[in-house]
Amino acid sequence: MGQSMCRSCGAKLEHTFVDLGMSPLANSYVKPEQLNRMEPFYPLHVYVCGKCLLVQLEQFSSPADIFSDYAYFSSFSDSWLAHAKAYVDMITPRYGLDKNSKVVEIASNDGYLLQNFVARGIPVLGVEPAANVAEVAKGKGVNTKVLFFGEKTALELVEDGWSADLIIGNNVLAHVPDLNDFVQGLKMLLKPTGVVTMEFPHLLQLMEQRQFDTIYHEHFSYFSFLAVEQVFARHGMKLFDVEELPTHGGSLRIYAAHIDDGSKQVKVRAKELKSREERAGYGRLEHYLSFRSKVEEVKRTLLSFLIAAKQEGKSVVGYGAPAKGNTLLNYCGVRSDLLDYTVDRSPHKQGQFLPGVHIPIFGPDHISQTRPDYVLILPWNLREEVMQQMSYIREWGGKFVVPIPQVKVYP
Ligand SMILES: [Zn+2]
Repeated sequence: MGQSMCRSCGAKLEHTFVDLGMSPLANSYVKPEQLNRMEPFYPLHVYVCGKCLLVQLEQFSSPADIFSDYAYFSSFSDSWLAHAKAYVDMITPRYGLDKNSKVVEIASNDGYLLQNFVARGIPVLGVEPAANVAEVAKGKGVNTKVLFFGEKTALELVEDGWSADLIIGNNVLAHVPDLNDFVQGLKMLLKPTGVVTMEFPHLLQLMEQRQFDTIYHEHFSYFSFLAVEQVFARHGMKLFDVEELPTHGGSLRIYAAHIDDGSKQVKVRAKELKSREERAGYGRLEHYLSFRSKVEEVKRTLLSFLIAAKQEGKSVVGYGAPAKGNTLLNYCGVRSDLLDYTVDRSPHKQGQFLPGVHIPIFGPDHISQTRPDYVLILPWNLREEVMQQMSYIREWGGKFVVPIPQVKVYP
């Protein structure tokens, strides 16, 4: 049983959602010269709070370097850039934003989103903790400050005249260690009729699609609409609208306002999602406790497939080296005895090894050179794209395998 307290309501964490065992940090790829060194593993034990039903990682002694190597540049993904632009095209007329408005983005990265407001002449401020990433944003003319966000930062920004009409946070809420401090900061920074929008992976999709491999150390909270609504309510805010998005295997975009803002009526789609979650069991603890056995079933099925393939003398290799692949392979104990190697398009990962399981990473050409019988697609969210790109494996009778939501072979 955990000794930790819920990061939303403070109750003691007593119920396991799923325990994925000890695992290395998902982005700690291993260089060849590091192979014979010790490697740090941390618990990947997920709890559900018995009181507010927030699914969360137990607080573990987090390494100081958990974010220090954070070299993720949002602008590297075309589809993510298009997603950001479509958001700005939608939100600008919806709230009548113009040169007199103030837009603040938390974890603004390299300015991938705010640059679209800059192009429209709307004043922006990016808040980004990683200095090297913030520099890139400034180079694009996106006003950015290197700060961690919370109550203290919010107060400073208000004093500097940055009370906001719109506050944006994409894929940051799940990564916040002190959730109440962060949401209280949003409350303080928001103008009386302002709007907060936040995007994060939806727990309902994680559970229904068995996306347990999206659990990793940097990702502290896993939100249902019901659980996130309670966090905002605690700080005097209401969720008045929500959109379901296809990003990251299924995300929510929530819209929050001050609870006493009469200009924001709760929309039908927010009420509908809430009752859909309630009907599906997200208001009851037992529903969460049923997840564990589904995860274990995926593990057994994947191992059975890999062992049977080996027994038949077939070769199996991976495609991709995403963070989710590292969770999956470490939890299942799949090393190069079951998966010969993996390939990745990113030159930064080629020549390195997957953390923990030490499976080597090659460039995609390695597949046509070695002609494996099966290619296991680790970034299952990109399966259509990968199967199209790599359709040539069918020339030698190669087949694709997707592990999530269940192991499926595509002839
Ligand atoms: Zn709680």
